[in-house]
Amino acid sequence: MIQVKSGMRLGIDLGGTKIAGVVLDPKGTVVAECRMPAPQRDYAATIEALAAIITKLEGAAGRPGSIGIGMPGSISPATGLVQNANSTWLNGRSLKSDIEARLDRPVRLANDANCFALSEATDGAGEGAGIVFGVIVGTGCGGGIVINGRLVDGPRGISGEWGHNPLPWASAGEFPGPQCWCGRPGCMETWVSGPGMAADHARMTGESITALEIAERAGTGDAAALATLDRHASRLARGLAHVVNLLDPHVIVLGGGLSQIARLYAILPGLMQRFVLADTALVEIRPPRWGDASGVRGAAWLWDD
Ligand SMILES: [Zn+2]
Repeated sequence: MIQVKSGMRLGIDLGGTKIAGVVLDPKGTVVAECRMPAPQRDYAATIEALAAIITKLEGAAGRPGSIGIGMPGSISPATGLVQNANSTWLNGRSLKSDIEARLDRPVRLANDANCFALSEATDGAGEGAGIVFGVIVGTGCGGGIVINGRLVDGPRGISGEWGHNPLPWASAGEFPGPQCWCGRPGCMETWVSGPGMAADHARMTGESITALEIAERAGTGDAAALATLDRHASRLARGLAHVVNLLDPHVIVLGGGLSQIARLYAILPGLMQRFVLADTALVEIRPPRWGDASGVRGAAWLWDD
């Protein structure tokens, strides 16, 4: 396999329903982009779709580049196989070696939340900060850790996966908590993801609406919607305070659909303070610079040389 060193970086975001890709020049400027639907429940077709979008991107950019791919779940360093992907047809597959064999090129893969964190730490909302915790609160709840510009990647490939820690400092009504797809009850994801917030609202009000609809209604002064947002912010604050006590990040950057709720940035630092074991300044919580584009950008930045 030959590694291309043209200074161009391809970043691919392999999502559940779509595959998006960009080519970045050395300054991080987008020189080409492309998206296509993701094949459903078909592993061989997923490999072919990845190869096809890479060919298209390199055609549009006029030259080849390094290839980084953000993915759901992660590659187990122990087995080389995909684990924890909600696109379940990827689980147990040797995605890295299969796509490398298809392309005859080296490919780097990382969890999509790790790509988000790397993007925002490299040239986004966390640029210049020593320790960055990037948080996805959207369909699911994930996270990634970047220290001094480098993604933290441990021996199990799960660094930053705070979404499957339990809600800390739970009150009686919050324990044991909703059942999570991972098999355990009360995971952060079951409370603070978009579906988690919507389920909480439905339990309390009997009304099924989405998280962003709840946020919109709260903006018009709807008391039940505001109460749901308050419960959600309290839980997110406790979960993040747990992370701060372990990692002590300089900056936390929020991503995913719920990062659009502007109110979070105003109230989270104050809500977190009583749970953070420090007497100093409030934790900085920032909105993303790149938003959804951080998936492809972070994948591109997996190649830093
Ligand atoms: Zn879980």
